[in-house]
Amino acid sequence: MMTPILEVQGLKKHFSATRGFPRRETVVVKAVEDVSFTIMPGEAFGLVGESGCGKSTAARALMRLIEPDGGKVLFKGEDVRAATGSNLKKMRRKMQIVFQDPYSSLNPRQTIGSALMEPMKVHGIAEGKAARIRAGGLLEEVGLPPAALDRFPHEFSGGQRQRIGLARALTLEPELIVADEPVSALDVSVQAQVLLLLKELRQRRGLSFLFVSHDLSVVRWFCDRVAVMYLGRIVEEGPSGRVLADPSHPYAKMLRDASPVPDPARRGVLPRIIGEIPSAANPPPGCPFHPRCAEAEEVCKSLLPPFLPLPAAGQGGVACHVAQRRLQAS
Ligand code: SF4
Repeated sequence: MMTPILEVQGLKKHFSATRGFPRRETVVVKAVEDVSFTIMPGEAFGLVGESGCGKSTAARALMRLIEPDGGKVLFKGEDVRAATGSNLKKMRRKMQIVFQDPYSSLNPRQTIGSALMEPMKVHGIAEGKAARIRAGGLLEEVGLPPAALDRFPHEFSGGQRQRIGLARALTLEPELIVADEPVSALDVSVQAQVLLLLKELRQRRGLSFLFVSHDLSVVRWFCDRVAVMYLGRIVEEGPSGRVLADPSHPYAKMLRDASPVPDPARRGVLPRIIGEIPSAANPPPGCPFHPRCAEAEEVCKSLLPPFLPLPAAGQGGVACHVAQRRLQAS
């Protein structure tokens, strides 16, 4: 059986925060609580949810950009949390992240050339003239002229900077790209160009993706499988076609209904997302979604629904008392 490129089991990330005035108290914010999923080689896996649901924290924790507090992360079967020294360096080389705002991760005083060549030197891939040729080739691959090597980040538009961010992620020949809201800061027309480029790179290089986004239409187009997160937990997971067209969880249905679809037959006013995500420092008891859920029952107020697989094989699973009962009865 093929080994997954990434396996995440029970990932946790908690933060402490102080609040209140004049009496200050320290609270624990459970940003990521028991998150599990698997990405197969060449697969694009989406993590979706509203802002504050924990999807970006989960992505950073599994790469150890912030240290997780619990759970297991396996990259091609190797334990990421236990890795140290050269082993960790090797894994980091194979897992690269692309941020929403590439400008914040580019040094404004450094030319694009040195931003691309520096990691090659650190990881012993190439230096000097060979690194420059390689960097020029990467810029061409992302649709920029090699002459851009001698320019500075402020000389480029948002879309071009995201292309530079991609070229930099590719410098170390990664196998998995963690793309954290990679197009949400861009204009719609530029978004489409960058998404097409991501798809081309995925096909050409056989890359796997963890694609973090709040935008369901983007995830529907790009990802094979998707997990919907709410207040630090996955509430539904499965093939994107199934989850985004026919979700079982009431929260996934709410996101689906509020997401625009390019279908003139369904033109009209989109339903609004109801309510706001509660604080992860003080989550509601039982099912964390119950204060916003139109289908909530008495049991939902006290009992956390377990994440259980759907009856049909390969269709993923859902964490909802009502959806599970409905699916068993059908
Ligand atoms: Fe709604 Fe209850 Fe399902 Fe939670 S468990 S999503 S409150 S129906």
